[in-house]
Amino acid sequence: MEDLETIIGLEIHCQLNTKSKMFCSCSTDFRDNEPNTHTCPVCLGLPGSMPMVNKRAIEFALKVGKALNCTIRDESEFSRKNYFYPDLNKAYQITQYDKPLAEWGKLLIDGDNGEKEVRITRIHLEEDPGRSVHMGTTDRGKYTLVDYNRAGIPLIEIVTEPDLRSPKEARKFLNKLRATLEYLNVFDSEKEGSLRVDANISLKGSERVEVKNISSYKGVEKALTFEVTRQRNLLRRGQIVTRETRHFVEARGVTTSSRSKEEENDYRYFPEPDLLPLRVASWVDAIELPELPDARRERFISQYGVSPEHAKTLTGGLKLAEFYETVASEDPALAATWTADYLLGELNYRDFSIDAMPSDLFRELLTLIKSDTITDKSAVEILRLILDAVKDGKKPERPQEIVSRLGLAKTSGDQVTAMIQEVIAEQQAAIDDYYAGKMQALNFLVGQVMKKCRGRADPGHLNTLLKEILDKKV
Ligand SMILES: [Zn+2]
Repeated sequence: MEDLETIIGLEIHCQLNTKSKMFCSCSTDFRDNEPNTHTCPVCLGLPGSMPMVNKRAIEFALKVGKALNCTIRDESEFSRKNYFYPDLNKAYQITQYDKPLAEWGKLLIDGDNGEKEVRITRIHLEEDPGRSVHMGTTDRGKYTLVDYNRAGIPLIEIVTEPDLRSPKEARKFLNKLRATLEYLNVFDSEKEGSLRVDANISLKGSERVEVKNISSYKGVEKALTFEVTRQRNLLRRGQIVTRETRHFVEARGVTTSSRSKEEENDYRYFPEPDLLPLRVASWVDAIELPELPDARRERFISQYGVSPEHAKTLTGGLKLAEFYETVASEDPALAATWTADYLLGELNYRDFSIDAMPSDLFRELLTLIKSDTITDKSAVEILRLILDAVKDGKKPERPQEIVSRLGLAKTSGDQVTAMIQEVIAEQQAAIDDYYAGKMQALNFLVGQVMKKCRGRADPGHLNTLLKEILDKKV
C-alpha cells in the first residue's frame, strides 16, 4: 500500500495570563488555592448576573492576532454555545462563533521540508469552563466534585488549516506558537493546563478523527504518532477509519474512542444578549508588538555573529533568549555554543527549564573556558555539579571554587612537557612502534599522558606536542 499523506489540523486553547477573569473581576491566580474560592455570581452563572468584558483580555487576543498576521475584524461578536455539562454551570459557554476576533493569519515554521507557512483559520476569545474533580477513578468513583475557580478564565482558541503533514511538524508548530505567545507576554507556558490541544488527523482520502484535550506539548506528538499508526494499520488490513472523537490517555500513550454521547453535541449558538458586539478598529493600530522570535533570531545572527542553527535554538523560548543575552557579552560565539549545545543538553536530561541555571555562575564558567583555565571536559563536569546541586535543592558552588576544590585547573605547559618526557622514558615499546610507522602508538602515548594529568590537558594539543618531541628525536 502506498504511503498515504498525513493531514493534521490543530485547535489550541491558551489561557491568557490576565489578572482577572474574562467577564468578572475574580482573580485568575487560583492554582494552589482551595476549590471555589475564586468565584462570584457572574462566573458561577447565577441568574441576573451580568458579564463585563475584560479589556486586557481583548488586548492580549489582538496582540496574538497581529503577531500571527491575522486580519482583525472591525466588529466581532460573542455568542452563547449551549450544551449541558457538569462543569458548565450556566449550561452555556460564552465564546465567539461566526464573527471571531481575528481570521486568516499565518505562522512560519521549520517544517519537514524546510521553511513552511501554516495558515491560521481563526482566533477567537472564550471563557474556560470549570473543572470536574473525580473522586477515585473516572470509572469507579462514587461521585464527582466541581471546582469553578477555573470558570471564566480567558482563553483564546487558535484554529489552524489542515496544513501540518506529520506529528513532528505539529510539535514544531506548537513550539513556535508557544515561543510567540511567550514573547508577547500574554501566556505562561509553565502553568499547568495553560495550553490544551485538540487535533484533527486523517490519512488522505480517509475519514477524519478528532483527538481531544491533549494537555502537554510532548503529548501532542505522541498522540498524533499513535493515531497515524493506528489509522495506517486499519487501512492496511482493509478496514475503514470511522469518523469519531478520541481521547488521549497520556499515561499509556494511546488514544481511545470516546463514548458516543460525549461527541453528539448539537450546540445551539446564538448571540450573547448581555454583551455588545466588540468594535476594536480604533485599538488595533495602537497595539505595538514586541520583538518576535523570527526578528530576534535575525538579530542574534547579525548582532552576535551566532550561527543560524544556534540562533534558532536560542530564540526558541523567551527566557532562553534572555538568558543568552545576559551571558553573551564577553564572547558571544563561545556563549552560544555552551548554552545551545552543552547547557540545554544537560537541562533536558534533567527535565529542567533554563531557570535552573544561575546566569552569573554560567558566566563565570564561560570566563574560565575562555581564559583557558579549564578544559572543555572539566567545564562539563562543573556544569553537571552545579545542576546536580540545584536538583538536590542545595546552593551550588561557584565554578572557581569547584576548580580549586577538585584541582581542575589545566596542567601548565611545563608540567605537560615533563609528563611527556616521563611517558617517553616509560614506554619504549610504543616509541619503537611509533618510529616503525605505527600511528596508533601515538594515540596510546597521548592516552598515557592524559592519565598522568588526570584529563586536565587538551588531547589535540597533546597530540601535536608529543609528535613534535618524538619527531625531533629522530
Ligand atoms: Zn467571578
